[in-house]
Amino acid sequence: MTDMTLEARGLRKRYGGNVAVDGLSFRVEPGKVTGFVGPNGAGKSTTLRMMLGLDRPDAGQALIGGRPYAELAEPLATVGALLDCESLHPGRRARDHLRWLAHYSGLPVRRADVVLDLVGLTSAARKRAGGFSLGMRQRLGIAAALLGDPPVLILDEPVNGLDPEGIQWIRGFLKSLASQGRTVLVSSHLMSELQDTADHLVVIGRGRLLADTDVGELLDEASGGRITLRTTQRAEAMTVLAGDDVAVAVTGADTLTVAGLSSEDIVARLGAHGVAFSELARHRATLEEAYMELTGSVGEFTAGAEAVR
Ligand code: ADP
Repeated sequence: MTDMTLEARGLRKRYGGNVAVDGLSFRVEPGKVTGFVGPNGAGKSTTLRMMLGLDRPDAGQALIGGRPYAELAEPLATVGALLDCESLHPGRRARDHLRWLAHYSGLPVRRADVVLDLVGLTSAARKRAGGFSLGMRQRLGIAAALLGDPPVLILDEPVNGLDPEGIQWIRGFLKSLASQGRTVLVSSHLMSELQDTADHLVVIGRGRLLADTDVGELLDEASGGRITLRTTQRAEAMTVLAGDDVAVAVTGADTLTVAGLSSEDIVARLGAHGVAFSELARHRATLEEAYMELTGSVGEFTAGAEAVR
């Protein structure tokens, strides 16, 4: 298979006086789930539309396997996309919808049953889409994206509004698609939605690149040297552990997170003062914490995300 890297090269798009995408460059590699993150209005959908040839960049290029979408020999067998499910006809049955899509796209009609099975909708194949839950509609949308068995998948906010079971399913499914060697780009306005899913992150704000980073490295760095301590004597522990180069933060009803002391030091100090504790563990940062640390004073992401809620 040819190299199915996705690439944004200096992408720029303006709507009237509003710059939606402002000189964006990044690469999305095969075999991984890449999260495309930024607050609402950051320019994610505009970027994805440009990649899919649905919007024309004012400058720069969006490339799929080295070519613009319009120059792909077999677009549907190259890239599948989930943008929104609004176009679903409520009276049409799931299987018929996919067979119709396949037929009109010049793909084998038998692919409909294959993709229904892949997304776990076989038992609902004869149900009308109008009666589908949001989770089922998302599965049907993903099934449609997979009709051409494409090596590249682009999904815009697939988790938005789903229940925990639906979120769990999408996470596992995206990971399995990536493990087959596919290039998977998934957008979200919430960092927490990509926890345990994304291997790599491309973070944007106001149309610009804020971070392009491996998730494992990011979490290791953010977790670095901090220790979480469980104690019912929180106040006493804080007093005993306090020091010039030590930072102690309250992170739960009976948990503290300590930076600047080794676990041996913590145990010794608590022991010497008879402060009881039940658990001591290396702190594992969440994606959201890591992001805050990464961007430091760039409050834009959080501020923007708050402002639009
Ligand atoms: P995101 O997907 O990150 O929420 P969008 O790409 O949808 O961001 O939007 C980026 C900016 O571009 C926003 O300010 C939005 O209002 C504007 N925008 C997006 N699409 C259009 C359009 N078709 N016409 C005018 N403005 C648009």
